[in-house]
Amino acid sequence: MSYHVNENGYYGEFGGAYIPEMLYPNVEELRQQYLDVMQETSFQEEFKQLLKEYVGRPTPLYYAKRFSSTYNTNIYLKREDLCHTGAHKVNNTIGQILMAKRLGKNRIIAETGAGQHGVATATVCALMGIECVVYMGAIDMDRQAPNVARMKMLGATVIPATSGSKTLKDATNEAIRDWINNPTDTHYIIGSVVGPHPYPDMVARFQSLISEEIKTQLLEKEGKENPDYVVACVGGGSNAAGAYYHYLDNPDVGIIAVEAAGKGIKSGESAATSVLGKPGIIHGSKTLLMQTTDGQITEPYSISAGLDYPGVGPMHAHLFASGRGEFISITDTEAMEAGLELSKLEGIIPAIETSHALAIFKNRQFKKDDVIVINLSGRGDKDLNTYIDYFNL
Ligand SMILES: *Cc1c(COP(=O)(O)O)cnc(C)c1O
Repeated sequence: MSYHVNENGYYGEFGGAYIPEMLYPNVEELRQQYLDVMQETSFQEEFKQLLKEYVGRPTPLYYAKRFSSTYNTNIYLKREDLCHTGAHKVNNTIGQILMAKRLGKNRIIAETGAGQHGVATATVCALMGIECVVYMGAIDMDRQAPNVARMKMLGATVIPATSGSKTLKDATNEAIRDWINNPTDTHYIIGSVVGPHPYPDMVARFQSLISEEIKTQLLEKEGKENPDYVVACVGGGSNAAGAYYHYLDNPDVGIIAVEAAGKGIKSGESAATSVLGKPGIIHGSKTLLMQTTDGQITEPYSISAGLDYPGVGPMHAHLFASGRGEFISITDTEAMEAGLELSKLEGIIPAIETSHALAIFKNRQFKKDDVIVINLSGRGDKDLNTYIDYFNL
């Protein structure tokens, strides 16, 4: 079985491009060109150089000694928190801005929920001197004011989405409307392995340098390229896709995906898509999706803004349905405790998204000689107020 996208844009039964007809030319242009563009030598050179000099790659693979001995196993942390802007998201936005330039686009649009993807997009637009418009739910703009300020400092225009629930899905609708109206000069930068084909595959390829680096780094440290497990948190699934990518077809490497259980799977306030989701269509692809019996999208909940998403990308839906991936859900409480624990044991304050992946060791046993790589997707600075309120710091 293959875990990569097939030529029709599917991972097993998931994926595809379920888009309004008016969007077809834009998506089709990208589909026809993305692989060729990515293979161009000049593209590869510019991408690699920016990752090195601007993002600070390769990020370290760090053996977490005190964390490992606490759980009596061997845990490495892939330090995506050390990327410029503090998380993995910039790997993808750099890739997509270079793609946009080569497709002759001079205007970028994006949607953002918590604001992290908006900031990563505004960052690369500033870098390239390209106009940037970010759609964001009006409620999210209130909740995430510091990220709105960052985007403005970086020169982006932030447009509030005032329809519906005034959150991510409404911002997405506005962005799609914009793209339909500006098909020739505009590229839409999607922030995770979601959306119509070819986005999930393109974003996974841009993030795949994470597992490419892990292989080289692990070979140096352990004398082998393959860990026993690779672990990542899954919102839409882009940091996870990058960490798994070069291991997908290697059955010796266990794949562990960690979702947000919020206040508990049965609480009605959760984002545990693999447990609660059913096949459905969101953001232009068929995937697992939390929905009511009549197909309305259920409002997700997680203490971490980046995992607060009602679906997962189609690659992850397939990893779940095929049994290739082991899916674990972690509550707000478990994640917060794990974030505090890593801070005290290793001097690394993780993003709350990442804290979900760090929390699996309380209930999931590993062998003493197992080698486990956790993708440390982001740093916790953005979450400091949540940590302060939660722990009364
Ligand atoms: C956005 C974000 C995530 C979730 O997005 P994925 O596409 O699932 O990776 C996870 N961790 C951090 C730090 C984030 O900013």
